[in-house]
Amino acid sequence: MRLSQNVADIGREAKKIIVAIDGPAASGKSTTARRVAGKLGYVYIDTGAMYRSVTLRALESGMMDELRLTPEKVRFLLEGIAVTFEAGRVFLDGRDVTSAIRENRVSRHVSFISSLKPVRDHLKALQQEIGSGKGVVMDGRDIGTIVFPDAELKIFLVADVSERAKRRHRELLPGNREGGLLPSIDELKREIEQRDRDDAVRAHAPLKKHPDAVEIDTSGLTIEEQVECVYRLAMEKIAGTAECGAGA
Ligand code: C5P
Repeated sequence: MRLSQNVADIGREAKKIIVAIDGPAASGKSTTARRVAGKLGYVYIDTGAMYRSVTLRALESGMMDELRLTPEKVRFLLEGIAVTFEAGRVFLDGRDVTSAIRENRVSRHVSFISSLKPVRDHLKALQQEIGSGKGVVMDGRDIGTIVFPDAELKIFLVADVSERAKRRHRELLPGNREGGLLPSIDELKREIEQRDRDDAVRAHAPLKKHPDAVEIDTSGLTIEEQVECVYRLAMEKIAGTAECGAGA
């Protein structure tokens, strides 16, 4: 997979850091990460979109219908895929897949695809390359634990599962592409719980909180409050508090 990124020349002299935001499905990671990156003038990388793009490719090529994904098929899946982030949209091989990767059929299969070691190794290397210059806010499941364990700021977002199901439901409303079959909130709740379980028990890079991560429960918070909280923590780190200790 190739991945390109339009990185604006932000022209800031301040020390640049890496902000790693992890947490379970629909806990507010993407919205928070995108807005915090905007406020900091940083690049935002949605690693879930990368795993979702690989999953969409697997579905579209009929691989998910097959009984076994051989190493050759997985290699085929990763080779030649180009994921591009531009102006808040996600492109797979030049096609705008921003809505398609959010469809429920992708959500249902993404945990399986992301449990495959070659997929994880491939995407981890790309993510590390993107973040090597710092000035990045990256969200996912393993960013603080595996991809950037030395990230200056690690955040772990959590939220009540009912609240998360409602958020997912709202998210699917305008872009629902499954012939009007919008899943119910209860159905989404079950799927979210299942996906969290699958992500947490897998052998490679399971979803878990880094001991230094700051945990924020977003259940009762507005988006603005979440963003402000993470932004403030990032600014404290940027202000040269190298001695302030992990997870401060
Ligand atoms: O963040 P989002 O819900 O879009 O992620 C979709 C899925 O991609 C997750 O449920 C997980 O299986 C996988 N993922 C992952 N590691 C990441 C980001 C996402 O395994 N860093």
